[in-house]
Amino acid sequence: MKLDNLLGKILGTSKSHFDEVQIDKEVTDEIMNIAKESYPNEFMALLEGKISDKILKITGLIFLPVDTSQEGAVMQVFMQPLTTNSVGSVHSHPGFNASPSDADLTFFSKKGLFHMIIAEPYNMESIRAYDSYGNIVDFKTI
Ligand SMILES: [Zn+2]
Repeated sequence: MKLDNLLGKILGTSKSHFDEVQIDKEVTDEIMNIAKESYPNEFMALLEGKISDKILKITGLIFLPVDTSQEGAVMQVFMQPLTTNSVGSVHSHPGFNASPSDADLTFFSKKGLFHMIIAEPYNMESIRAYDSYGNIVDFKTI
């Protein structure tokens, strides 16, 4: 099996179809708090969740021992062990731009189904979510 296929299986991209995304409110609260605490550094975590009945439910964060004090923290995830429940990632951007960088887009295309970026001022309105192609995806918090 090719490594990309294996990663796809581990991250669930082989059964990737979903019509709706629901995120536990605790998860978005935690994302906002950690983004504020980490500022001016980026923080990065994996998203724990699963798809059932075509609804992607995000239920938790998985933290990785990466050095987020420098640019490109996202790419360091390639070096980390993966977990079966990981469906994507979240990271923060210093500044007010929650658009994915070129490095982010490369990462999105290789891992996971669903990715979030939170920019300043680190509130609900400054969270953007993307699919693996970098297209904006709507989500609900519940
Ligand atoms: Zn980024």
